[in-house]
Amino acid sequence: MKIHLRHIHADGLHLEGEEECLIPELAAEDVRCTRPLRYALDLGISEGSLWATGSLAQPVELRCVRCLEPFPFEIEAKAFSIHVDLTGPELIDLTPYLREDILLNLPPHPHCDREGGRVCPAAERTEAEAPAPEESSKRQPDWSALDKLKL
Ligand SMILES: [Zn+2]
Repeated sequence: MKIHLRHIHADGLHLEGEEECLIPELAAEDVRCTRPLRYALDLGISEGSLWATGSLAQPVELRCVRCLEPFPFEIEAKAFSIHVDLTGPELIDLTPYLREDILLNLPPHPHCDREGGRVCPAAERTEAEAPAPEESSKRQPDWSALDKLKL
């Protein structure tokens, strides 16, 4: 996503639109773009630097680390903000900055119940199988050993 400085006027520039997926290589790690990146950015130039603020939204499909099922998610960067010193070229590529912000907002260990807002089938299974009473009876000898120590 390249911006020519000539297009940014004194009162700034507002950009809104869609951009092709910037994280295609993450498909190997079960992060798949399902739709293009949506962006709304305000750009301006002041004192030899370019600033940009705005928001990004990248619809993806993630894989739940518990049930291993894919589920839809939207990576949101609501406070995208950069400040770049203008040193040479008049054509500024915003792609690396957008990419970085998307990656920062990507959940590292996605859970379909937490990020996907659904009931994780694996969580239900774990609760049903959890041998809770047995576990507490196993702990009791530890407490009695502690009592003997006190005596
Ligand atoms: Zn799940």
